[in-house]
Amino acid sequence: MDYYSNQISRLIEEFSCLPGIGAKSAARLAFHLIHMPEEDVRRLADTMVEARHNVRYCKECCTLTDQEVCPICKSSDRDHRTIMVVENTRDLAAYEKTGKYKGVYHVLHGAISPMVGIGPEDIRLKELIRRLEKDVDEVIIATNSSLEGETTAMYISKLIKPIGVKVSRIASGVPVGGDLEYIDEVTLLRALDGRVEL
Ligand code: ZN
Repeated sequence: MDYYSNQISRLIEEFSCLPGIGAKSAARLAFHLIHMPEEDVRRLADTMVEARHNVRYCKECCTLTDQEVCPICKSSDRDHRTIMVVENTRDLAAYEKTGKYKGVYHVLHGAISPMVGIGPEDIRLKELIRRLEKDVDEVIIATNSSLEGETTAMYISKLIKPIGVKVSRIASGVPVGGDLEYIDEVTLLRALDGRVEL
């Protein structure tokens, strides 16, 4: 039986498609929204549509940005000869929050996972290799320490080594299976400082 009006049910359904939102949270969000002033709801909806429309991949590092080249790649204060490879933009944000890393990034948007059919061509690897045509001193691989992250790290190091660029892997202060975005800053920095050459 449909307890709610069709519109409310649809709203709940839409919310429950979002990551981390179960049926209960979806209902709570839907009812909250219905009680909000209409102009606030409109602003929220506009923000979502605009973000979806304007956000794109940085031409250099492939992170998500609303400009052609992201602020980090544009900055002359950064060391453009050191590239840290991360799985996603949230991991980049985790390292940025430490405020200590001065190099630039490369965002893969995923990790190699043969189990679910994600191969090297499905992540932004070609773009990384292309960047190595410029002067690069070191590529620091900071993929997660999950099976997929390790597989990706191995693959990248084999790919880059013949090019003659130094490749290193962040140390294992990062717990096995841990997502970088949930790790505290001290551990992230220790992992970066203790990186080992591959
Ligand atoms: Zn960038």
